[in-house]
Amino acid sequence: MRLTRYFLPVLKENPAEAQIVSHRYMLRAGMIKQQAAGIYSWLPLGYRVLRRIEEIVHQEQVRAGHIPLLMPTLQPADLWRESGRYDDYGQEMLRITDRQKREMLYGPTNEEMITDIFRAHVNSYKDLPLTLYHIQWKFRDEMRPRFGVMRGREFLMKDGYNFDVDRDSALHAYNRHMVSYLRTYERMGLTAIPMRAASGPIGGDNTHEFLVLAQTGESEVFYDDRVTGLKLGARDIDYDDRAQVAKVCEEFTTLYARTDETHDEAVFAGVPEAHRKVGRGIEVGQIFYFGTKYSESMGATVVTADGSRVPVEMGSHGIGVSRLLGAIIEASHDDKGIIWPEGVTPFPVGIVNLKQGDGAADAACEGLYKALAARGLEALYDDRDERAGAKFATMDLIGLPWRITVGPRGLANGVVEVTSRRTGESEEMSPEAAVDRIAQIYAGR
Ligand code: ATP
Ligand code: MG
Repeated sequence: MRLTRYFLPVLKENPAEAQIVSHRYMLRAGMIKQQAAGIYSWLPLGYRVLRRIEEIVHQEQVRAGHIPLLMPTLQPADLWRESGRYDDYGQEMLRITDRQKREMLYGPTNEEMITDIFRAHVNSYKDLPLTLYHIQWKFRDEMRPRFGVMRGREFLMKDGYNFDVDRDSALHAYNRHMVSYLRTYERMGLTAIPMRAASGPIGGDNTHEFLVLAQTGESEVFYDDRVTGLKLGARDIDYDDRAQVAKVCEEFTTLYARTDETHDEAVFAGVPEAHRKVGRGIEVGQIFYFGTKYSESMGATVVTADGSRVPVEMGSHGIGVSRLLGAIIEASHDDKGIIWPEGVTPFPVGIVNLKQGDGAADAACEGLYKALAARGLEALYDDRDERAGAKFATMDLIGLPWRITVGPRGLANGVVEVTSRRTGESEEMSPEAAVDRIAQIYAGR
């Protein structure tokens, strides 16, 4: 993408309404525009990151054996009357009446609807296990929408629902989600710690929240800091192997890590003092096992191997897709701007032409741009007729992890400069070597 042809409405001033760094940088980098309290347009740069995050979520869900579908944002109120949640949900639910005076609502979550789909089409244990998920907009009329996309009213969520014939199989689904979430967050450059949580209006007794540590997080968290060093890494997971998956979960949930809702001072006191930490965290996901809560009230049953009919065992599992942009920025920035991890960056690399209009510099930039494209990498080429300082400031603000700087002086020696946004370190090399270097970094992405 050439910057002169793009739509990147960067702001010079710090927007007064933004209280935390991620919100400030998302506005300044022209990623989002507020349209109403807690409701945002996703401008091109923000939309690219959002889509990238969605893609990673999809890939890891499919890898775990889960099946994508798409349910609507609007739901009939009657479904929610069946489960009893229509009245319980309270003012967070946006209720709508259509022209036929039918009561509708903008879905805050989809347990009822997925249970309705299940009961219409599945009848036998032979069709299980089954996990269906979608990535869809939700609406919750939050009392205090704030911090930009972190606590919106309209927000994008991945929500998945498992259907299993018995409790053991449903607990395996729970564990499978935990491991797939760990991998999802790691690919985004995040450390998200599973913490034992309380269940809230979804219901159920087994639940973990995934928290990214950050001073600006809304949850108070208590943890053994050795938990922050755990990594899934590139290990091979067979998602059908119950024992292997359970072992990974055990590894990640044995050290103390809880939110204030489930915190237990007495147990916490058993953590060696040097490792006992209290901090704050951003909730980027939550998994629940709730058994037959919805299947019983809504009549979703299956015939088992011995011919009896039982309500299906269920769980639901959510990832805050749009909130993740904020969480990633909170975890990865400096005073100049965002520092995108390679996994989610809107563009893999930026090209800065120090002297637009100089024949050699222009030609070298075009050459780099095309050579990168030929390797499947879409660079953001700053081809504006601007001072170098302004170009660097924009690149630093929008946070592309790598920058190639091209100027007449370097070119006279046959070199361009490759700079890491994270470390600020630069290295000179030929344009060909620069393309190779960037391609190597993104190989396998
Ligand atoms: P919170 O406690 O932050 O209100 P929740 O526990 O009600 O969230 P869940 O029902 O667990 O939310 O939804 C799954 C995920 O969706 C959450 O882990 C979070 O990442 C995201 N999410 C929830 N509410 C919002 C919101 N208002 N804006 C953006 N993301 C949200
Ligand atoms: Mg939650």
